[in-house]
Amino acid sequence: MKAACWMGKHDVRVEEIPDPRLLNRQDCIVKVSSTAICGSDLHLFNGYVPTMKEYDVMGHEFMGEVVEVGPDVKNLRVGDRVLMPFQIACGGCYYCKHDLWSACDNSNPNAGQQENVMGHPGAGMYGYSHLYGGYDGGQAQYVRVPYADVNPVKLENDLPDDKLLFLTDILPTGFQAAAQADVKPGDVVAVWGCGPVGQFAILSAFLLGADKVIAIDREPERLNMARDVHGATPLNFEHAEPNVVYELKMLTGGRGPDVCIDAVGLEALGHGVGAVVDWTKQLLRMQSDRPNVLRQCFQACRKGGTVSIPGVYAGIIDGLNFGSAFGKGLTLKMGQTHVKKYLPTLLKLVEDGKIDPTFLITHKVPLSDAGQMYPIFKEKEDDCIKVVMRPWD
Ligand code: NAD
Ligand code: ZN
Repeated sequence: MKAACWMGKHDVRVEEIPDPRLLNRQDCIVKVSSTAICGSDLHLFNGYVPTMKEYDVMGHEFMGEVVEVGPDVKNLRVGDRVLMPFQIACGGCYYCKHDLWSACDNSNPNAGQQENVMGHPGAGMYGYSHLYGGYDGGQAQYVRVPYADVNPVKLENDLPDDKLLFLTDILPTGFQAAAQADVKPGDVVAVWGCGPVGQFAILSAFLLGADKVIAIDREPERLNMARDVHGATPLNFEHAEPNVVYELKMLTGGRGPDVCIDAVGLEALGHGVGAVVDWTKQLLRMQSDRPNVLRQCFQACRKGGTVSIPGVYAGIIDGLNFGSAFGKGLTLKMGQTHVKKYLPTLLKLVEDGKIDPTFLITHKVPLSDAGQMYPIFKEKEDDCIKVVMRPWD
């Protein structure tokens, strides 16, 4: 089959590799109809996530059709159309039973590696390094799906893939970012990053009743989307005078946003002394992550407010103004999205026509173009915001 393989830093290639096979009695095989490139894939592409190996198959946002089921699979049949939440969960452990799917205790065969780094291991994920289980991903023609009775969400509608695909990750991720921050009617919410996750965080903040959402980025097409599609107030961080934190205070009568959402993560850009120091420390491997956005969130958020962090962080951060979070009594919420917790509600909103996620798609290409699309998405060339790929075109 064809699959987009990680071949090294800044090197994704579509290669011919063996088809996946059922390995356990509870597995199924999904024939992928649509798959997308995520901002999280850029962290792998840019070499920030360790334990990637040559020929690892990329991709965790995908959907398709069940073409083979193991003998113990009861809830699925060949021919079912399914959405695939990006994490792999066993369905039986303490965490799965408490709707904390991304914390599943059983789905990561390399749990020991993660336990050493984080204290406890997280769930396995498709196409997201050996630290997350070494599972092959969804930017491929076929995928092996473990715990097939638990993870795939069977579709009963005939909506096109483009309306449904983002329910596998970025729509629930944007929603969790707003929901876990307890966004309420009347709130002012600031969202750093107007990429796909930021766009859905903005949409979700308004859905939960926010009065005003301030959308921060530097890419004009992303800021325009935030304004034109959702009605957010755009703020270009490169033109902020004298800085983003000051502008946010001015936009909120001096108080600061009630909720600050970091939809950027460990590759935050910036200028000024702090950002240059971040870059240097990351290059010298004195820290793994650049906390420029986190620092601004802590500074800008109103006293007693909430900072919600869907943006991915991988390791060690130096130079974080933690005292400002403490001094202002901020609440911090973060983590990988518990996709299955939010997916049913969001699926209903999509089916009822209340959310149409297709506004986000700027590029639709065959999977064979994956190698060219990674750098285009990374560099935001051609006004690229979201790439959807079809493995059989
Ligand atoms: P993306 O790379 O397309 O978007 C990031 C945006 O942040 C870009 O538009 C960039 O211009 C902007 N940005 C960079 N520095 C900034 C700064 N200082 N201030 C404001 N904006 C800045 O990625 P995406 O797909 O939208 O994903 C965003 C983050 O969410 C990534 O870290 C990704 O890994 C993460 N993510 C997390 C989960 C989860 O489960 N928590 C799921 C999906 C994605
Ligand atoms: Zn993703």
